[in-house]
Amino acid sequence: MFAQVVVPVPLDQAFTYAIPAGMSVPVGARVLVPFGPRRLVGACVGHTEIPPKQTPKPILQVLDDEPAFGPALLDLTRWVGRWYLSSWGEALMSALPSPVRRTGVRRYENVARLAVPPAEALRQAAELRSVNARWARVLEDLAEATAPVPVTELAERLEISSSPVLTLARRGLVVVEKRAMDAEDPILAHAPTGAAPPPLNADQAAAVAAIVGAHGAFRGFLLYGVTGSGKTEVYLQAIRHCVASGRQALILVPEIALTPQTISRFSARFSRLAVLHHRLTDAQRAAQWKRARAGEADVVIGARSAVFAPLPALGLVVVDEEHEPSYKSGTAPRYHARDVAVKRAQLEGAVVVLGSATPSLESWRNAQDGRYALLRLSSRVAARPLPPVEIVDMAGETGVKGRPLLLSRKLESAVRDATARGEQSILFLNRRGFAPVVFCPACRTVQKCGHCEVAMTFHKRRGVVICHHCGAEAAPPALCPACRQPGLKFMGMGTERVEEEVRELFAEAAVARMDRDTTRSRGSHARILEGVADGSTDILVGTQMVAKGHDIPGVTVVGIISADSGFQIRDFRAEERTFQLIAQVAGRAGRGEIPGKVFAQTFSPDAPSIVLAARHDFEAFATKEIAFRREWIWPPFTRLLRLVVGSPSPEESLRACGACVEASAAVLGNEGSLTLGPEPAAIPFLRDRHRYHAVFRAKTWESLWKVASAGTRALRAWKSAEAVWDMDAFDMT
Ligand SMILES: [Zn+2]
Ligand SMILES: [Zn+2]
Ligand SMILES: [Zn+2]
Repeated sequence: MFAQVVVPVPLDQAFTYAIPAGMSVPVGARVLVPFGPRRLVGACVGHTEIPPKQTPKPILQVLDDEPAFGPALLDLTRWVGRWYLSSWGEALMSALPSPVRRTGVRRYENVARLAVPPAEALRQAAELRSVNARWARVLEDLAEATAPVPVTELAERLEISSSPVLTLARRGLVVVEKRAMDAEDPILAHAPTGAAPPPLNADQAAAVAAIVGAHGAFRGFLLYGVTGSGKTEVYLQAIRHCVASGRQALILVPEIALTPQTISRFSARFSRLAVLHHRLTDAQRAAQWKRARAGEADVVIGARSAVFAPLPALGLVVVDEEHEPSYKSGTAPRYHARDVAVKRAQLEGAVVVLGSATPSLESWRNAQDGRYALLRLSSRVAARPLPPVEIVDMAGETGVKGRPLLLSRKLESAVRDATARGEQSILFLNRRGFAPVVFCPACRTVQKCGHCEVAMTFHKRRGVVICHHCGAEAAPPALCPACRQPGLKFMGMGTERVEEEVRELFAEAAVARMDRDTTRSRGSHARILEGVADGSTDILVGTQMVAKGHDIPGVTVVGIISADSGFQIRDFRAEERTFQLIAQVAGRAGRGEIPGKVFAQTFSPDAPSIVLAARHDFEAFATKEIAFRREWIWPPFTRLLRLVVGSPSPEESLRACGACVEASAAVLGNEGSLTLGPEPAAIPFLRDRHRYHAVFRAKTWESLWKVASAGTRALRAWKSAEAVWDMDAFDMT
């Protein structure tokens, strides 16, 4: 007998290996196999009696006592690999958390701390920045840390390798030492409170009854509930029923919403809970995953990749905020976790509930067509009103010397009044840093990243300019690099500038900022939220982080500094993104006893997405947008495949992309007229690669699959060109 093994390489086939005498290789187990000159970890997906033509190589080692993959996950990953144009082996390995994927889980980790006082470290950082910016970042990060930081966590966060940390250790500025890893999740230390669940309103009760009534077979639901309407309580009660029947429930939430507050809502009800998220240590992640596989968890909650969590008898899958683009993976396999969740529920005979206050148009259409049952929660809990949203036209708002104002007069006075009354405000801006543009007035050039066609963002507190796409950073130049003139200007706004201006405007108020820059260290996110929850923070400035994963009852004023940020990328989803952004952020206001008010600042006060979001009229927006998508043939009225070709040579990139478009014409026939490109991508140069893209549309997935196959063959002629095929693409940059 031989074993069929798939490995994480982009070849969509299983390879046959010999099973050495005395070795047992169960289907679904991970195995170590020789593959060309390498050794790879793959998975056994089947057995065969038919010997291959060439003498098969033997399996070197079986890595699992119990198979890592059950039959259901084998089926699911096979589908994912095929649908998203990668191999089964790649899909299988991406289904495992990285600490499980490695052979054996590490019990110890290296942690780093400063060997010198923080002030000295910061002085050294300033001095060393021009030598190696990474050293400076490590020192700055450790200067802020309150406890030793795992080196892998530090490296991941700063997007560097561990070598700068080790170099600093050799230089005597940093100490690196071994520490035993904690395998217990601190979040799970909470025990269920045993409190009775709150009573449901009529909409909620009807939704729970419908979901519970479908238990035991595949069925899809779209739970459309306005912000604050109590969707989570519907999930919780549906899960309770599922668990009581002896099956397990899987809950997906966007990474950014997987906060301690979110988790505690589940851990307060269910003791046998497993949490899969990236802030856990390797040992914790491995332990949680193994509990799920062993059936020791009734409920598993996690972000995107948790859709592959091993569960012996899945009964219910919930995808909260199903419209969130972060469910789409940015690396191969480029799967959409919502769509994988639906497929998984179908394969395993489970119920799937997609929840949102602003459903994606794909899901909305599925509900209209009857593929999903639509459940509505039309009012907020305790009959609280949705907050009124005032659209503020920023064209009329200029300050001294005609400079644009950050806060309109209306928003400023609303925040001032709220602060005076002891109420809280949130100011939202979808851009971190101080200023997104460094501009030379003398020669009118914008400072660009050396590796990308992207403007450098100025981060004032750290005193650096950073490329938000490749992570390159440098000291802000004193002179313009192009014309050698002084007087560079930092233009535009980021959360750091908003925070600074707000501190000046409201000198008496306590201001906090929450974005990726202020939440880098473990626990910092929770500390900021505690300040907001206990009322010691008056004004919270932040990115989309402020809009997800927590309830702040005292917030009465929400200011959307720029409602136009969804329009920055002019793709067919721009209006949808804008609507979602306003509705979601506005939903933060008035969740407590006192009603709230929202201000949406914009330069396009007549844009339908903004006007309808201000009226909280999702259905009118969806109707209008669906008509647009139908007329111009965009999803959900077509399937979509995006190709991005990158090459150090712009000519090669263009010609390779063009060859794919040519090859697609034969496959697509009439539908070929819908193909866009080859044209420069929205970011035409990224990480030293010139990028051209093409967008293919067709009625069926099969046609697009053929486009990718034909294109892949055509691309072989261009050695320097790297292609990314993105099925059902979201990211159009
Ligand atoms: Zn200049
Ligand atoms: Zn860059
Ligand atoms: Zn949060």
